[in-house]
Amino acid sequence: MIATVLIVEDEPAIQELIAYNVQHAGYECIGVDNAEMALAVIKDALPDLIILDWMLPQMSGIEFARILRSNERTRRIPIIMLTARTEEEDKVTALEIGADDYITKPFSPRELIARIQAVLRCLPSAACDEIIEIDGLRLNPADHRVTCSGAVIELGPTEYRLLHFLMTHPERVYSRDQLLHQVWGDQVSAEGRTVDVHIRRLRKALESVSKDECIQTVRGTGYRFSATALTIVKDSDADI
Ligand code: CA
Repeated sequence: MIATVLIVEDEPAIQELIAYNVQHAGYECIGVDNAEMALAVIKDALPDLIILDWMLPQMSGIEFARILRSNERTRRIPIIMLTARTEEEDKVTALEIGADDYITKPFSPRELIARIQAVLRCLPSAACDEIIEIDGLRLNPADHRVTCSGAVIELGPTEYRLLHFLMTHPERVYSRDQLLHQVWGDQVSAEGRTVDVHIRRLRKALESVSKDECIQTVRGTGYRFSATALTIVKDSDADI
């Protein structure tokens, strides 16, 4: 199935440039000028990814992203924010409201496509569909569901990919750069801080089932997924 990318950008030249490159990369694409039109499109059918301009007439991109993230039907759609702002604080704001990535204007089409590919990587249609279960935490790639003793854990797309990677490589430490490479894709020039923001969000989601401690910070090195039950066994082994 070909992925559909929804472009929300009020500057016609930029919308056209993105649409051209997205189509050239083999995706379907729909371009709209504002958030209100985007909502109408989404009401019809969910896109696989949204490229969202920050500065839009009427409803801003941030406001629109908040609406998508607060709605059960739309909360899992990956969002890449487009912004002319270069302030670090704005980037973090974009990530904290639930964007999966951001790209600063002016950007190269090649980088944009690399980021789209990284975000779309490992969607439910992908081949990696083996259920992973560690210490009661169950991740099902077929429907992107993460559960613990029957309770569903709500995760954003990036948190899901991060957890999927960590759960398929448990008990091993990965640096921020390694995680960027594995989860975001090697062509993406994201920063280490991006990893920290998503780790924080992942832990917060896992808190609801008391599994946040599975995501461990290894001081000066990076992060590790460790089953809490396994850790206790190891500790008692060490005592003996
Ligand atoms: Ca704009």
